[in-house]
Amino acid sequence: MKKRILFIGTGGTIASELSQGGLLPGLGADALLSYVPDVAELCEVECLQLYELDSTDIGPRHWLGMARAVEDNYGRFDGFVISHGTDTMAYTAAALSYLVRFSPKPIVLTGAQKPIGFDATDSRTNLRDSFECACTRDMHGVAIVFNGRVILGTRACKTHTKSFDAFASINYPNIADVRDGRVIQYIVPEFLPNPLFSRELETRVGLVKLIPGAGAEQLEFMLGRCRALIIESFGVGGLPHSRGMHELVSAAARAGKTVVMTTQVQNEGSDLAVYATGRPLAEDSAVLEAYDMTTESAVAKLMWLLPRACSPEEVRELFYAPVSHDILTIPQ
Ligand code: ASP
Repeated sequence: MKKRILFIGTGGTIASELSQGGLLPGLGADALLSYVPDVAELCEVECLQLYELDSTDIGPRHWLGMARAVEDNYGRFDGFVISHGTDTMAYTAAALSYLVRFSPKPIVLTGAQKPIGFDATDSRTNLRDSFECACTRDMHGVAIVFNGRVILGTRACKTHTKSFDAFASINYPNIADVRDGRVIQYIVPEFLPNPLFSRELETRVGLVKLIPGAGAEQLEFMLGRCRALIIESFGVGGLPHSRGMHELVSAAARAGKTVVMTTQVQNEGSDLAVYATGRPLAEDSAVLEAYDMTTESAVAKLMWLLPRACSPEEVRELFYAPVSHDILTIPQ
């Protein structure tokens, strides 16, 4: 029997058309599907047009909407394909990985660098490959399918603004490749008989990227506004000694703010204990470290876990508890 797939449209370049004001999403899920008629041989598809947005405008409210659409339709379908803009797709994929944990059914996100109506476009291949993945028996949980790569939802990062090969899997292998429409799977994602759904996110999560010479005021401002702050420092990680940042961060963490140290370098993750600029933070049990986790996943995980944790100890425990292989380095 053919699989039943729910195709959820949210906008993005894939669904965009030329307008006077620039590319704008305008095509619905039905219209996208009409460009890949051979998908009908593979599965039965129902369309749900949820949003019509450039993903620049997609945020936590929409992540909850997508998760809810999956939850409400979970029993009726064997898998889900979500078309989405590429700019924030990695954040959405991470968020859905926490909002729908251990899903035995695949939830595949895809998009494109060029609109589906253009002659030279990656849209049709990405869309076809996504349905192929959503119909693959051993595919579970959230993944991005793009340019022949199948990337775990917690591991994706947009690495190119224009090339078709726009996404990479960070600090983790692709779980599968799609070659000439065939899925070659290397890793079977973890799953349970039933998924665990969540319906709440804390949006007061901030991110600061350090630049050389930055003062502590920016950190102070963000710590004052956020419940959780991620600090992207340099290399394996650390903070300048000279400007009171160590004291500021430790005091905020002791006062109950969640502070996560990470790196602005894309690959190989942080290791705060290596340098004297980072060691005091590594030894401060109130300060968390992202290690090999992507920034996208750290943001989404904090938003997901804060409403569930009653104490800093619980925040720590949940942050370091792996979800869909989002973190491989676990501190003692
Ligand atoms: N700005 C577009 C979006 O994220 C880019 C894309 O889809 O490729 O919606």
